[in-house]
Amino acid sequence: MPELPEVETVRRGLAPVMEGARFVRVEARRPDLRQPLPRDFVKRLEGQTVTGLGRRAKYLTADLSSGDVLLMHLGMSGSFRVSRDGTKAAPGEFHHPRAAATAHDHVVFHMSSGATVTFNDPRRFGLMLIVPRGELADHPLMREVGPEPLGSAFDANLLAAACAGRKTSLKAALLDQTVVAGLGNIYVCEALHRARLSPARRASTIATRTGAANARAVALVDAIKAVLNDAIKAGGSSLRDHRRTDGELGYFQHHFRVYDHEGQPCVTPGCGGTVKRIVQNGRSTYFCPACQK
Ligand SMILES: [Zn+2]
Repeated sequence: MPELPEVETVRRGLAPVMEGARFVRVEARRPDLRQPLPRDFVKRLEGQTVTGLGRRAKYLTADLSSGDVLLMHLGMSGSFRVSRDGTKAAPGEFHHPRAAATAHDHVVFHMSSGATVTFNDPRRFGLMLIVPRGELADHPLMREVGPEPLGSAFDANLLAAACAGRKTSLKAALLDQTVVAGLGNIYVCEALHRARLSPARRASTIATRTGAANARAVALVDAIKAVLNDAIKAGGSSLRDHRRTDGELGYFQHHFRVYDHEGQPCVTPGCGGTVKRIVQNGRSTYFCPACQK
């Protein structure tokens, strides 16, 4: 499943062909993804200009000249493909073999920029909804979403306050979207490793008795921001390669430090430990017991 950096990379890939462009024609090839498409989906998009393409947590938000927002989520297997003037999509850094099947091209946007933007989703856990801008913050999918991890409001005191009094593991707290938005299994493992904190540690131990941040909270927030920024940077460089050819947006290979590295030597300088895999809340956690305490 794509996490925040992948969604941000998709946003940056789509912005040049969607921002300032009008939906000339929209094809909804089936009535539903994870949820039904709005009944008037095509009608509310065609003729509208995208005034801005943003992101909130793992959702893309296309602001329309009508005052509506097109809310999009990639789900488990969704991806976008951009082609211009009949140029065939070419595999690149973003290559994802299943998406080559046009049978899973469910929504197609023909933009006034000359680009065709195709949403492909074999498993159909993706989502497209249209919500009036003024109702977005209170929408059921949005109202519980916590702070953006890369936003200036997200700091050690905010994270500590959200974790204070929690008896769950630190890993479970970070996966809770009300605590911080957009983090998934991969980047939580990576951030905890960089901060040298055990994923099994009780969440409340990053706060003082009064709920303020301690040194662990400071290290953790720094690590979260660094991990996400590095991944977005990596996505950006694959995007630059990809732009020359046009192609698919949604997945790219990253180099992780602990995730999926079970049994391999820890990369923390001077550590000498071995990456271990445990299962927490039904999901794999990768960490180094030697340097993550
Ligand atoms: Zn280590």
